[in-house]
Order: sequence, then structure tokens, then C-alpha cells
Amino acid sequence: MKNYSTIMFDLDGTLAESKAPLTTEMAALLAELMSKKNVAVISGGGLPQFLTQIVDRLPLNANLAQLYLLPTSGAALYTYDAGEWREVYEESLSEDEARSIEEVIRDAAKETGLIDFSESVWGERIEYRKAQVTLSALGQQAPIEAKRQWDPDHTKRQVLVALIAPRLPQFSIKIGGTTSIDVTKKGIDKAYGVQELSKFIHEPIESMLYMGDALFPGGNDEAVKRSGIETKQVADPSDTARVIEEILSAS
Ligand SMILES: [Mg+2]
Repeated sequence: MKNYSTIMFDLDGTLAESKAPLTTEMAALLAELMSKKNVAVISGGGLPQFLTQIVDRLPLNANLAQLYLLPTSGAALYTYDAGEWREVYEESLSEDEARSIEEVIRDAAKETGLIDFSESVWGERIEYRKAQVTLSALGQQAPIEAKRQWDPDHTKRQVLVALIAPRLPQFSIKIGGTTSIDVTKKGIDKAYGVQELSKFIHEPIESMLYMGDALFPGGNDEAVKRSGIETKQVADPSDTARVIEEILSAS
């Protein structure tokens, strides 16, 4: 296997089950990888979610200086510096922008009848994550089984996106994890995150590898391909663990 400088991962479905913390085994593998290479995680979630899902699970001696976090699909980059997570950049939406995005999402939900906001669900459905507004159809804390059943073939979200996108031409609208739709500034996506990380750590994109569970057309990892980064499709976290072991034994 090629000697990569940097291994970049999607989070949900790749390093962990959707919204679930890393397993102890995965946390140990990542920590070992961080002792040898740069490790980066890019996902639609916000920074707090990265901290609970990933950082809090890592062993205490993990080399956090070699871990880079790109929440909100690359709209932000955080690095660990002098004992804290420091923002390198964050492409935030203004409150006005966030409000108009929320309005369009609510209208689309109503017009299609796909989401009934008057019915209570598992937590907030629309979340403002600084750089991104995220719609989670069943709420942020929905159980994974319910989420999996809601839109397995993306058809519901394709209908919603088809209605939302023309009404928000200045933004980028993407199908996110299991039940979500993410809205960011135009031009901000996982490819942008790869490019910004490459500049920040002074490593060429050719020396980096991206692993994700949705690199197929229409998947939420597909955008990274535009950056030219080498990619590896994985089936699930245990598949990812196998590839990490391969990388470790080759380096
Ligand atoms: Mg994923």
C-alpha cells in the first residue's frame, strides 16, 4: 500500500454508526494511526458532535496534534493547539441567511407533505450549525433503526431537494447522512475541505487518502472526488477498521 501522509475519514457509517461514538477498538486504531500519520475527519455534524463521537473516545495518550476536524462538511477546520481546539477557518452563515433557509425548508416539507412539523419527534429537526443549516427529518436524536427506514433510497430527500434548491440559488443543498439535508454556502463541500486541509498542513492532495461509505454517485462522500484525492469505498466501520490495520502494517 502507498505511503500516505494523511488519512481522511467520513464519520457516520465509516468510523462509527450514525451519531454513535467510536467503538473502543476503532478509537485505539485511530490513535495508533495518529501516531504515524495525519488523521482528518470530515462530516456534516457540528464540532460538539465530533468531540463526543470521536475525541472523547480516544485514549488519553492520543496524539491530538495530528488530528484535524472538519465539521459541517468542510465548512470549518479545527486543529488541536496548546490544549484546545482552535478554529483555522469557519465559513459561517449569518442569522438572516439561516432564517431564510429554515423558512424554505419548512415550506418544502409542508408542500410535499413529507415532514409534518406539528408532530413531535426525537429532538430538533432543524439545526443551525454556524456554517450549515441541517434538516434532520426525524429529529437529531432519532434512533438509528427509525432513521434507516425513513428514506433508504433517498427518494424523499430528492423530492425535497428538488423543491428547495431553486429557491435557495445562492446556497448549496446536499443530501446528508441517513435522514438529513445540509445547506451551506455555495462552493463549500467535502472537496473544499480536502483542499483547505491540504494547504493548512502543507501536504499535497496526492499524498492523501479519503475513506467513506458513500462515494457512489449521489452519495454524501462523492464531492471529495472533485479535489482529486485518492478514495477508498468502505462498507461499514468494521471494513474501515480492516483498511486502517492494512495501512498500519504497511507503515
Ligand atoms: Mg457516511
